[in-house]
Parts: sequence; structure tokens; C-alpha cells
Amino acid sequence: MTTPLACVVGWPVKHSRSPVIHRYWLKELGIEGDYVLKPVEPDAIAGFFADFASSGFVGCNVTVPHKEAAFAAVAEMDEAARAIGALNTIWMEDGKLVGANTDAPGFLASLDQEAPGWDAHPGPAVVLGAGGAAKAIVFALRSRGFAPVTIVNRTEKRAEQIARNLGGPIAAARFTALSGLLGDARVLVNTTTLGMDGQPPLDLDLGAMPGKSVISDLVYVPLETGLMKAAEARGLRAVGGLGMLLHQAVPGFAHWFGQTPTVTPELRTAVLETMGVVAPADAGAGTDAA
Ligand code: NAP
Repeated sequence: MTTPLACVVGWPVKHSRSPVIHRYWLKELGIEGDYVLKPVEPDAIAGFFADFASSGFVGCNVTVPHKEAAFAAVAEMDEAARAIGALNTIWMEDGKLVGANTDAPGFLASLDQEAPGWDAHPGPAVVLGAGGAAKAIVFALRSRGFAPVTIVNRTEKRAEQIARNLGGPIAAARFTALSGLLGDARVLVNTTTLGMDGQPPLDLDLGAMPGKSVISDLVYVPLETGLMKAAEARGLRAVGGLGMLLHQAVPGFAHWFGQTPTVTPELRTAVLETMGVVAPADAGAGTDAA
């Protein structure tokens, strides 16, 4: 039996944190295998997917700018990928290329782990942003029964397009409507780049939000964003983006290497070290940094 090899394909791809995550699990689970960076130029990506069966890889993650090419190349895909219109994970099954979108389950798993019971009484939800990540989040929230889900975006027509494509009780609104929407929101998710290091801050008045609401910020650099700090100051539960980043990697690993890994505080520490967030001396201290 050959040693299983998986990769993340993109252009460029060297910024990816995926090798750290998958190599951590391979070592932890004692699996002989590897996960590597696979830079593929846009001109060559259709051929890469067409010849995937003979590429030597058991599967891969797909990152920008190849998500559309992967979506077009697979023979089958899961319900999330179909609904969202994008996929990030592929593998071979019965000789066919199969794809999945693991951002939605990754988001849900991170909230399940870090804010248990967050979906016990689903109600209205607000999603800030209408880019690539927002589609997965709206799909995920709908899958747990949140309704209506209102997408608030600077460019309102992008929000309208997601609402139209996904269908169901999903609305689009402008930032000026936000204060009215937050009054009965059970969940608020930031999928914009606001609040990221190097980007403008996301300044929101969370005063109207019900006390049991949960705030989720997909941003993970910095680890604790201004939005999370504001939520915590109000006594609301706040979940950062690192958990989603780690949990979205679980299904791919399970398909490629045959064992389902877990997201532990030690994995968080290992990934944070590579971001320069936690000093190496802290490794294994069990810090749940998210
Ligand atoms: P994207 O497709 O580029 O979308 C960016 C979004 O941010 C758009 O809705 C955009 O609004 C909005 N935005 C940008 N600058 C803004 C500003 N100055 N004022 C108001 N809105 C602004 O990006 P993406 O791929 O969806 O990623 C969004 C964020 O999610 C990033 O921070 C990314 O790191 C994070 N993310 C995290 C995970 C994770 O695993 N934790 C996964 C995916 C993404 P317009 O439409 O008006 O331009």
C-alpha cells in the first residue's frame, strides 16, 4: 500500500495553514502520510483536475483562485457545495472526483464546540458581509433552523444575490438597518474583512442584542477582534474564526486518511505558533485561545 498524500491546491498557495493542521493530525494519529502545498497555475488547473486519478494524491483542499474550476470538474458534490455554489475539498470515490464544501459544517462544529446550546432556540440571525464565506454561513444557519437570516452588506446587491440563490427566508439589508435587526437577533456573524489586522475596525452598537445572543466573528487575525471584545463586554458569548478554520479541515482528513481527527486545544496552540500568536514555550499548555 502506498503512503497517502493529500495537498492544498491554489495559486499562490504558500500562505496556507492547512499543512500545519493536517500534519499535526497525521503525527497525532500515527498515520504514515503527508499533506503538501501544490501550487498550480490557472492555465494548468483544468488538466490537474482532469488527471487527478493519476496525480498521486488521495485528495486535496482547493483554495483561491481554483474553487470555480474544482466546482466544474467534480462528477458529484455534497448538498452544501451544490447550494453554496463552491467547494473546497475533493477526493476520489469509485473512480470519480467528488467534492464537498466543508466551511458550513466547520462553522457549525466550531459553534457547537465553543458555544454549546447556541442553536437551542433558533430565531432571527444576521450575517454581515456577502462574499465567499457568507454563502456558507447563511446555508449553515438555515440548516439549523435560523429564520429569517438577514444579510447586511455594503454592496446590497451581492446580499440580494445570495438570498435569491439560496432561497427561503433570507433577506438582504443595508448597514443602516442594522440597529433595528439586532434587537431580536439570536446570532450575529461577521463574514466581512472588517476587524482583520490591517483593515478598518467593525464598530457596532450591540446594546440592543438580547442577552442570550451569540456573536461569531470569522476573522481570526487578531484572535480576539473588537467585535468579540464588545460582545463580551455586553455579557454575550463570542466565538472567533480559528475554530472554523480548524473544524473545516476535519471532513477532508477523514476522507483522505480514514480516521476522523478532533480539534483540541493543543492543535489550536500548534497553529497559533505558526501565526506567531503563541510563543513555542506555551505549546501543549492546553490554552483554548479561541
Ligand atoms: P470576500 O469574498 O472578499 O468578501 C469580503 C466581504 O467584506 C464583502 O462582503 C465586502 O463587502 C466586505 N467588506 C470589505 N471591506 C469592507 C468595508 N470597508 N466596509 C464594509 N464591508 C466591507 O472575503 P471572504 O472570502 O468572504 O472572507 C471574509 C472574511 O472571512 C475574511 O476575514 C476571511 O479571513 C474570513 N474567513 C474565515 C474563515 C475561517 O475559517 N475562519 C473562512 C473563510 C473566510 P462588499 O461586497 O461591499 O465589497
